[in-house]
Amino acid sequence: MTTAAGTRLACRAVVNAAGVHADELNNLVSAYKLRIVPRRGEYLLYDTDQGAAFSHTVFQAPSRAGKGVLVTPTVHGNLLVGPNAVEQGSKEDVSTSAEGLAFVLEAARRTWPEAGTRGVIANFAGLRASCAEGDFVIGQPDDAPGFFNVACFDSPGLTSAPAVATS
Ligand SMILES: Cc1cc2nc3c(=O)[nH]c(=O)nc-3n(C[C@H](O)[C@H](O)[C@H](O)COP(=O)(O)OP(=O)(O)OC[C@H]3O[C@@H](n4cnc5c(N)ncnc54)[C@H](O)[C@@H]3O)c2cc1C
Repeated sequence: MTTAAGTRLACRAVVNAAGVHADELNNLVSAYKLRIVPRRGEYLLYDTDQGAAFSHTVFQAPSRAGKGVLVTPTVHGNLLVGPNAVEQGSKEDVSTSAEGLAFVLEAARRTWPEAGTRGVIANFAGLRASCAEGDFVIGQPDDAPGFFNVACFDSPGLTSAPAVATS
């Protein structure tokens, strides 16, 4: 491999775990093309005076778009609600939107009727690396031995990581 600065690197294996950019790296070496469509998830974080409202993470029934909006205490004693699931073109834009946060609050009220803007100290978003074709893509493409994809690692990628790492 040659870097943009002209440095040549030799290695026995490459692991492609580049998040929303994993499709671009795969597509440099393999004819089996991937396409990641980022799916934004927005959250609201409440101050610690709200943290005692829940002692456990509470999920709702999942939908095709994901596991739905949850309400959870954090390890620091805050309360966290979210996320929604909105497909977008940009792989860089992690801004939140008024509509997205309003959707999260409305959905959260099914679990926590008091959910509102009082006590909110931060909001933020993350991008799930969703594959246009569906599931996680794990392993070597047939035409690129030594190149291991851990790509399209959408939710629940974090929970799946120990199983993927030992498989
Ligand atoms: C809103 C939301 C909710 C989620 N909920 C859950 C959940 O409840 N449970 C669960 O298990 N998972 C959940 N996930 C999914 C989980 O967060 C991801 O599966 C996991 O973080 C993916 O980890 P990763 O290391 O593959 O990718 P990332 O954490 O995205 O890391 C990719 C890394 O690659 C680097 N990189 C990218 N391109 C290049 C390049 N060209 N050169 C060098 N480095 C590069 C990036 O800088 C980054 O450090 C959620 C994700 C989101 C966004």
